Amino acid sequence: MNTNNRREFLKRSIIGVSGAALLPGTINAYAGESAIQFAQKLPERSLGKTGIKTPLISMGTSGTTNPNFVKAAYDAGIRLFFSANYYGEGNNEILVGEGLKGIPRDSFLVGTAASPDGLDRRSGTLTGEFTVDGYIKKAEDSLKRFGLDHIDILLFPYAGKKETVQHEGILKTMEQLKKQGKVRFVGIASHSDTVEALNAAVAAGIYDMAMISYNYKTQNKDMLDQAVANAVKAGMGVVAMKTTAGASRDKSGPPLNTNAALKWVLQNENITSIVSGMSSVEELQKNLTMIQNLKMSEQELKDLNLAAVGSGTGLYCQQCKQCIPQCPHQLDIPTLMRSYMYAYGYKNTEQAWYTLADSGISGNPCDQCDTCKVNCISGFDIKSKISDIARLRDVPLDFIRV
Ligand code: SF4
Ligand code: SF4
Repeated sequence: MNTNNRREFLKRSIIGVSGAALLPGTINAYAGESAIQFAQKLPERSLGKTGIKTPLISMGTSGTTNPNFVKAAYDAGIRLFFSANYYGEGNNEILVGEGLKGIPRDSFLVGTAASPDGLDRRSGTLTGEFTVDGYIKKAEDSLKRFGLDHIDILLFPYAGKKETVQHEGILKTMEQLKKQGKVRFVGIASHSDTVEALNAAVAAGIYDMAMISYNYKTQNKDMLDQAVANAVKAGMGVVAMKTTAGASRDKSGPPLNTNAALKWVLQNENITSIVSGMSSVEELQKNLTMIQNLKMSEQELKDLNLAAVGSGTGLYCQQCKQCIPQCPHQLDIPTLMRSYMYAYGYKNTEQAWYTLADSGISGNPCDQCDTCKVNCISGFDIKSKISDIARLRDVPLDFIRV
């Protein structure tokens, strides 16, 4: 990104939030006023053997459009921030760097998921396009965008398959970046095949942490909990993402008791912190209040049970990939369902656009089928959802960003 584009991006971000200033409790709170009341010691847990202690809530920055909100989160006590090199083509990393500028470097931690060239997200494997030098360059580019001298945690994303998590080139890249002091700790981020990914990461022996999807709708929870416990025993830290199963922003079903959903995650003491995609001061305040008392009330347990049973299909895709072999065109349905959730649940059209682009479709591939052959475990009407979200592919990105 050249300087003009970068300046334009930041200007747009700030203008976007100036608009929000008209709403109660948003921009005024960014000045620190309402955030300060939480600038007390927040409950913390240790991140494996890294020596890091971090609050039970961390910030996932994908939905953040204003550097001031990153700063407000820091002022409120958030210390761990996660971005990715594919959020807004790296623009999100610039925004996070801007938000943290001037803050003592040893008082916050920045992690980013760096996707290498040659990562086939559908199969979770690496193609011949992957090179160690290319992956190192990706991490260096992230570092430049943050404007920092090192990244605290570099994550290899879409980790699932053992052969990828243990790929010689991935391990070599991670070791080299650590050795050069560009990265302090390394880890994996996994949406699917998480048990396999965690077990492979433990066996690889170089990973310091893992970020995993973990929520009240998690399937095969016992197996996943065992894999998490094994990882923690081996010295890895584990943080949780997708903790509300997309339901907190899904207006298509009954409202979720988000406090209950987040507390549920933290009942597992092997989970160090929740990576929450907070995008408003209200959400930030609610989360920081929640972690002061993790005890779940009868009502919260009841609400969560109701949410799990009664929320219909919702928008959350388990990323189980059972649908892919059922589709004669082998569409990357899990990625398409995530794009749909970002658009209709999170109302984050830009993230939906990028995720849709990742799926590799053009036009509406489902036009070719009279009836859909896919039976989704979550009961999604796959053909209808794909046909709906596929339209976004034709919308120019500039138009979405305006
Ligand atoms: S079968 Fe359903 S829940 Fe599983 S990955 Fe496919 S769309 Fe998602
Ligand atoms: S309708 Fe779409 S998802 Fe279903 S089988 Fe056909 S191409 Fe695959």
